[in-house]
Formats: sequence, structure tokens, C-alpha cells
Amino acid sequence: MQKHDQDMGGPTRDETPDSVLITPVAPIANHTHGGRAKCLQRLVRLDLPVPRTVALSFQAVHGIAQGEMPDMAAIVEAFPADALLCVRPSSQDPDWGGPGAILNIGMNDARYVDLCDSLGRDGAAALYLRFVQSYAVHVARLDPDVFDDVEDGGPDALSEVLHAYEAETDEPFPQDPAEQLAAVLRSMARAWEGTSARLLRQAKGAPADAGLGLVVQEMVPGFGQGECGSGVLQLVNTKTGQPQITGRYLSQSQGRDALGAGAEALYLERDPRGPSLEESAPEAFADLKSHARLMRQRLREEMQVEFVIESGAVHLLDGVRVTRSAQAAVRIAVALAEDGIIACQEAVMRVDARILTELLHRQVAPGATRDVIGSGIAASPGAATGRLVFTAAEAQASAARGEPCILVRRETSPEDVRGMHAAAAVLTERGGITSHAAVIGRGLGLPCIVGASNLKFHTRRKQLVAGDGRLFTRGDILTIDGSSGQVLAGEPDMMEAAEDGAFQTLLTWADAVRDIDIRANADTPEDAMTARKFNAQGIGLCRTEHMFFDPGRLTVMREMIFAETSDGRAAVLARLLPIQREDFQALFRIMEGLPVCIRLFDPPLHEFLPTSTTGQRELSEALGIPVSDVTRRVEEMEEYNPMLGLRGVRLGVTVPEIYDMQARAIFEATLDASKEGAPVVPEIMIPLVSAAREVELVKARIDAVALAVKAERGEDFTYRLGVMVETPRAALRAGEISPHTSFLSFGTNDLTQMTYGLSRDDAGRFMSAYVNQGVFPEDPFHVLDTDGVGELLKLGVQRGRAENPDITLSICGEHGGNPESIAFCREAGFDYVSCSPFRVPVARLAAAQLAISSQTGDSPHQSVKP
Ligand code: PEP
Ligand code: MG
Repeated sequence: MQKHDQDMGGPTRDETPDSVLITPVAPIANHTHGGRAKCLQRLVRLDLPVPRTVALSFQAVHGIAQGEMPDMAAIVEAFPADALLCVRPSSQDPDWGGPGAILNIGMNDARYVDLCDSLGRDGAAALYLRFVQSYAVHVARLDPDVFDDVEDGGPDALSEVLHAYEAETDEPFPQDPAEQLAAVLRSMARAWEGTSARLLRQAKGAPADAGLGLVVQEMVPGFGQGECGSGVLQLVNTKTGQPQITGRYLSQSQGRDALGAGAEALYLERDPRGPSLEESAPEAFADLKSHARLMRQRLREEMQVEFVIESGAVHLLDGVRVTRSAQAAVRIAVALAEDGIIACQEAVMRVDARILTELLHRQVAPGATRDVIGSGIAASPGAATGRLVFTAAEAQASAARGEPCILVRRETSPEDVRGMHAAAAVLTERGGITSHAAVIGRGLGLPCIVGASNLKFHTRRKQLVAGDGRLFTRGDILTIDGSSGQVLAGEPDMMEAAEDGAFQTLLTWADAVRDIDIRANADTPEDAMTARKFNAQGIGLCRTEHMFFDPGRLTVMREMIFAETSDGRAAVLARLLPIQREDFQALFRIMEGLPVCIRLFDPPLHEFLPTSTTGQRELSEALGIPVSDVTRRVEEMEEYNPMLGLRGVRLGVTVPEIYDMQARAIFEATLDASKEGAPVVPEIMIPLVSAAREVELVKARIDAVALAVKAERGEDFTYRLGVMVETPRAALRAGEISPHTSFLSFGTNDLTQMTYGLSRDDAGRFMSAYVNQGVFPEDPFHVLDTDGVGELLKLGVQRGRAENPDITLSICGEHGGNPESIAFCREAGFDYVSCSPFRVPVARLAAAQLAISSQTGDSPHQSVKP
């Protein structure tokens, strides 16, 4: 639409007249007169029956707010002498809102008497009453309570209202139509410039100086003889986006009265639930339908039509974009393209990428009542209801009984993963957007709230206390809304996930224009299947440590940690080898030749050791060693700053047997999987590198394992070795590191943590205070800090590429699924981004929109605002 204006050469602000009659050729544009005025001009150009309308420019309205009235006589003269008028707001983007419309301007005692003849006393009283009331409240700024005691409708009500007006203002109700109009324009202009209206629209993305236009339109009253009334119509269902004529019509009514009228209002199309306009006024209905279809075709959008019928003839007062759910937004855009009304690329641009998340998960229904008892960081979207449980074991028991449960923990650890699998949702007191619970939750598509510090967690007593003092104990029912971060008591109405054919079609169109690859972070076969389902182009990060959380494996892992010697460790690891080989083979099989990037073991080993006395006793029994030995070893391995301690490549250098085993498992799985299907070229990634020498050491051992496997099997394979850049030093020294590697993948979770010196697991406790006070514009673990962390990324890219021009560059931190961060990565020349499987659709659409924007200069969903 915007583009069309530019093609037509829209007027500039300076050459815009203050007011202009809307004709097919009048100089009217979105950026000078607002969306409503422009839309009305389009309807006029389509020769649709639109009442006479004058548009006031942003400049004129701004002047009115400052007390400079435009040429009022010119406005008034544009209409017949006895016309009633209405004024509606016309902001540049209809979503920015504006003051409410005021109808029936021009009503006064004399017009009332005249109209009693033509419309009847009730009709005339209804018009006057509506005007006096809205004038009193919006223009004279009287309290609406003044009219509390007024009887409903009719001439008696009218005289009561007029008396009440006079009593409150000490003045009779103004009778001069021009004076009434001027006062209405002034009050609407000032309302727009008020602080609360400005804050409200800024929250919706409007610039501080966004302008307001106004349209002054001749009223078609909706009262009178023959079939008269008003209503709204649209051609699609707001919730589903499926074709369906919806709306209501009410005889002898105005504005949007039909929508609130209940049983008295007619259906539009013939309907078994009650009488319809189609039956009572078939010709008007047929006209209306054909007007709406023409609008869809020519305005290239699903529009809701506001109409009036006057003695059987249809008038169109206004057209607004149909409000729509996420599902409907996708369906509507795809249907418009399939009907040849818009291009596929435009359909791609019309859907806000973020709303796709809503289609992938069950959600709290939009109108549902929410009993909010607390909130935290919305760490994994979707909503689920269940009974409270406070341990992983309880979660598993609950799942075994078939009872959905909410797992509540202070924070989660590897020991909780099976409980998380069993739970319907997870709630933690601590943590941020990249903490353990958040990462696992997103991987599983499990609603999750972390850092809910405004609830009191008594996990031992198995109790939660809400901010208002309400107590919730084990077995109580709560709902976790991981999309909003709200914890709700009980079970609100829910809305099911809704990815359908239109969703798939839109993403296929997106893929056709995308110029950056999208992979998924996937650790398990289930994750990999989700990644395939969402058409990820490979796995960008397989966190192998997640494979050791299974209780059977955990014990072997612990045994390895307790082994005193290298040989002892190697012997225990040999038992893990076949298990890991099967893990990798399963991933390769599912990914069918698409790249799979496996990250070698990363966390500190002590994360795998039990912390509780019971756990340590059980481990001593399992390993057949004294409890005191277990306790001693656990204490020995404790670190002051585990995230900055013995983890990642530092383990690879000092305890190399683990990486040897993993490399062997990867290579053997590569050979086995390649026999079954497409040849596999595994990617092996070394975490937490900070020096080139670390890479040299690990690479030498992995190369040796590769040679050994090739020799043993008598078969050949290739593989790619890469480095995860997640320490600031690795980014700065990327020039030294890159000659040793095929790829660099930026782990922006740790890189953000280390750049800010801000713990990713603790930041949630004060992040909202920081964001609210403007210290950080956003949580940097959520939206990439393009200034600081971004500078390191750019340096890493530039230095890495300078020394190894063929190097593949990517990002695999949680930022990979965020549209703003994808924009940065695309600009920086990354080959792919990798994100949680459930974020892949959002990333695909966002990446396509960026590619289109870079060609056309349009920003996403710009073209959907007629
Ligand atoms: C990272 O640090 O960005 C990353 C992807 O690794 P992890 O979240 O497992 O530390
Ligand atoms: Mg990391």
C-alpha cells in the first residue's frame, strides 16, 4: 500500500492543504493524512458508496491542538447545509489508535424537531442523545457518572441529559454546528497530544512525534423509514482466518451498536441460529458482499467494513484491517497470495515472525481470565496446566499415573532432566534465559518460567507462596504461561497449537528467498526429529553432555570421574563408547546426510556428582567404595567459579580420554550411518577455547583417533573440526585459531556472560530492574548486545576470515532464534544460525524477511496497513 503511495507520488507535508475533500485525485497519503483517510480515498477510487468526507492533515491537527484552527468555513461548506457529521481519527498506522469517533455533530434542538418528522421521535432522540453524551464526556470532559441515572433512550432521556449537561457546565448545550465541530476537533487533537495517549502509542511502536489526521464525514443516520440500520462485515473468521462472512447488523442503529446488541442484532448470512440480513434485505446484503470482495481484491487485504443501510441502500463508512489471531494472520496472508492478490514474497512480509511461536504451542486463550499469582522470565513459550510437584522423581511418578504436573525447582540440574521430560511445564526460582531449565525447556518445547523471584519457593516443605500470601502446596493446580512469564492459579481456557497447511506454505515461500541457513540445536533423537519437521538445514549444536543424564549412563559417568588413572578412565569410557555411538548414529540417521555438528563434552565434571547425602550414599553403594571417599572426591572437585573452571576444552587437554572416546564414537557412527544412507561428514566442535594451542592439542588427538578408526575398519571418511568461540579471547585471537579449523561457531551465551562478567544463571534476579531503569535496553542473554558482544563477533569474523577465507561462520547461542540477532548475523556474513528446534520456524521467516527487506527496502508487515 505504502509503495503504491510512493508510486503515485504522495504529497509532502509542506504542500499538504489543511483540509481536503476526499476525491479520487485529492493529495492524500498515509504519511500526511493517516491510514483511515487513505483507505477512504481508495474506496472512493473504487467507486464505492462512501459518504462525503473531508480529511484533515497531521499538520492541521497539530495546529488545532496548539489553538490554530484551520479554515472552518471551508470544511463546513464541503457538506450540505443540514448534514450531520462525524469525526474519526486517522493515525499513520491504525494500530496506534487515536481518540474515539464522535457521531451526529450538528444535532441541536432545531434539527431534533426537523428529524422527528422524518425519523420519528425515538430515532431523532437517539441521534441527539448519543451526540450530547459523547460531547459531554469527550469535549466538555464531564464525568460519565453524571448520566448514570438517565433512563435508557427516548425523548425523556434526551431532556434529562440536556438538563444534566447544563447543570454541570452552567451553560446550555451548544447549538451552533460549526462551534460544535470546532470543539470536537480541538478535543480530539489535544487528546492525541496528551502524555498518556503518547505513551500508549509509543508502546505500540509509534514514534514520539507520530501525527494524527482526522476525517470529517457526512453521517448516514441509520435511522428512518424502510430498512435502515448499521453493522460490520468481514469475509473471514478472526480466529482461524478461514473464509466465513462474520459480523452483525442492527436495524435503527448507528456506529458499532450492532456488535453489542446481543439477540436483537441480525446475522449477516442466512444462519440457523437466528434471522439474517440476507433474508430481510437480500439486495443490500448482496451489494455489501460484493463491495467487501472488491475491497479484498483491490485493497489487497482482508478488511472489516463498517456500513449503514438507509432505505435499503448500502453506504460504506469505513474499512479497517480485520483483527486476527496468529493463525488467522498466516492463513489470510497465504490465501491472498494463493488467490493471486498479493505476491508470495509479500505474504512472507506480512506475518510478524514472532507470532509463529504461538502456533507451535498450546496457549492460554486470548480472552481467558488469568488469576496471576507471580511471574518470571518467559523462558520457553506455550502454556500448560498441572499439579505441583517439587522433585524430578515426583514428576516421573505423576507422569506414570497419567497426571500432568508442573515441576517446581529452585533451579534445575542434570539430575532433573528426566523429571523435566515427564513434566508438562517447569517453574524455577532462579536462572535466566540461558539457564539449564530454559535451554532444556526450549529444546523439549516445554513451557518454562525461570527466575520467578516474586514467588516464595519452599521446596523442602513443597510449598509456593504467592506475592499476595496465597499458599500452594504439592498437588495444587497451576498453569505456567511460558509465553508471558505468568504463573496462574487453576486452569484458564486454553487454545490448541495450530500449525497447518498455510503455515507450511508460508515457510516454503520463506525458504525460497532466504539467504542465511538455519540449523537447530538438538541433543536427542526427539530434538532431531523436531528439527527435521521444521525443515532445519542441519544440527548446529549437539550438546553431548545432555546424553549422559540418563540414570544408567550417569552412574558410568560417575565411575569414570572416580577413576584414579588414565587407564582406569579409558576402561570405564569404553563402556560408554557403544552407547555414544548409538546416540550419534541415531542423529545421523534422522538427519539423512544433513550436517550434524557435535560439540565435545563441555560442563565441569562435578555437575555429574550427587550433592545430597542420600545421593552420595547411593553412589558409594553403586561403586562399592566408602561414602567418605565419595564425599572427599566431591569436595576435591568443587570449584569457586565452575563456569570459569575446569570445563570445555580444558577437560579435553587435561583429561583427554573423554574426547578420545567421543571422537571414536562419532567416527564409528559415521561409517555405520554412511553405509545405511547418505554419506555423513560429521562436524566436531571444541568448546570454550581461548588459545590456539588448545586447538592444536585436541586436533592432534582427534586426528589420531580418526586414523586409528580408518585403519581398524579399512574404510575412509572425512570430518570437519571446528571451534566454538565463546570466550572473548577466542574472538580476539580468531586469526590464530582459524587456520586450524573448518568452522567457527559463536557461543553467544557464554560469550555474553564473559563479556559482561554477568552470570547467565543469576542475571534473572535483577535483569528486570536493569531493563526497567534503562541500564540495558534488553536482556542481553535474550537479544544479542550488538554493541559490545557484537563488536567481538565482528572482530572474530574479520580476523578469522582473514586467515582462513573458506571458514564457515555461525552462531549457536540462544540468540540464534531471535529476529534482531539474525539480522546482525546476516549483516556480519554468517553462513548459518542455529537455535532451539521450536524456534526454527520463526528464524526461517525472520531470515526471509531480512533478505526481502534488503532488496526492496520494505520492512516486514509494512504493507498490511490500508
Ligand atoms: C553458548 O555458550 O553460547 C552455547 C551455545 O553453549 P552452552 O549454552 O551449552 O554453554
Ligand atoms: Mg557455552
